[in-house]
Amino acid sequence: MSNRIAFIGLGHMGGPMAANLVAAGHTVIGYDLVPAALLEATANGVTVAESAAAAVAAAEIVITMLPSGRHVLGAYQGDGSAAGLIASAGPNTLFLECSTIDVSDARAARDLLVAAGHRGLDAPVSGGVGGATAGTLTFMVGADAADFESALPVLQVMGGKIVHCGESGAGQAAKVCNNMILGISMIAVSEAFVLGEKLGLSHQALFDVASAASGQCWALTTNCPVPGPVPTSPANRDYQPGFAGALMAKDLGLAVNALEATGVAAELAPLAAQIYRRFADADGGGRDFSGIITEIRANSEH
Ligand code: NAD
Repeated sequence: MSNRIAFIGLGHMGGPMAANLVAAGHTVIGYDLVPAALLEATANGVTVAESAAAAVAAAEIVITMLPSGRHVLGAYQGDGSAAGLIASAGPNTLFLECSTIDVSDARAARDLLVAAGHRGLDAPVSGGVGGATAGTLTFMVGADAADFESALPVLQVMGGKIVHCGESGAGQAAKVCNNMILGISMIAVSEAFVLGEKLGLSHQALFDVASAASGQCWALTTNCPVPGPVPTSPANRDYQPGFAGALMAKDLGLAVNALEATGVAAELAPLAAQIYRRFADADGGGRDFSGIITEIRANSEH
């Protein structure tokens, strides 16, 4: 079935996601603040609207792929100069919010939608630009059962794995918890490799043992922070992302917000958030987050 879909935010992720919807036969009306993003979207068959409000006016489904919760709530509600998406959409429009944002912002966004007579779900993704381009993203969805069923055919165009995590906010909750594990485990793996270096242990020997033992994890076996053991990991291309340090710093910031809001006595995640923030603010913002090992090594004595 072909839908009329408004796509707001045609950046690194939204651009290829919208292109895949066009390729699957949907009519996609796109909007972004950046002219270059609009040009690229046009080349991919997206019809560009003059404003976000115009994009959603006749849409059955609205997808947002924006930087943060502030941008999402701002676009939903509009401001003095621009009408918001909620007011501009027709009755009972289905909103798919795919950005990575705070759980509390995701729930606030859905409350606004429902109060205005729309339907909404949070559906953040993992898989990066490569997954967005290939249409193999993993979607983590927070929605009631009926909205999930309505959204599924469209999500399946853009994703390879769609997980219904629970009610509103559960998708963002899954995303923040997963990336908290990832961020902390990459620091653990990186510290272990630097310690191994100091102890005269080769990278390959540590990898061979830990990847077959209880230290096994994705940060080691897929995104290994030293070159050699996993030839496809970003360490083999001077830490070109991959998953940029700036995004890991952002996601751990969301984790800290959630930990504070819920009163969880976590100690490692707040420290990891500081470590990635420092890395991103130095030269790591555009490097793969596994480049954190170079900072650990540089800060080590001798
Ligand atoms: P991006 O900065 O490339 O794209 C965001 C786009 O939103 C930009 O083109 C910007 O101009 C546009 N925008 C901002 N405010 C707008 C508004 N009011 N109206 C219309 N357009 C607006 O970011 P991205 O890498 O595409 O990431 C988008 C989201 O996906 C983020 O929340 C990010 O955390 C998440 N994410 C990114 C990756 C990744 O690898 N890049 C992976 C998973 C999740």
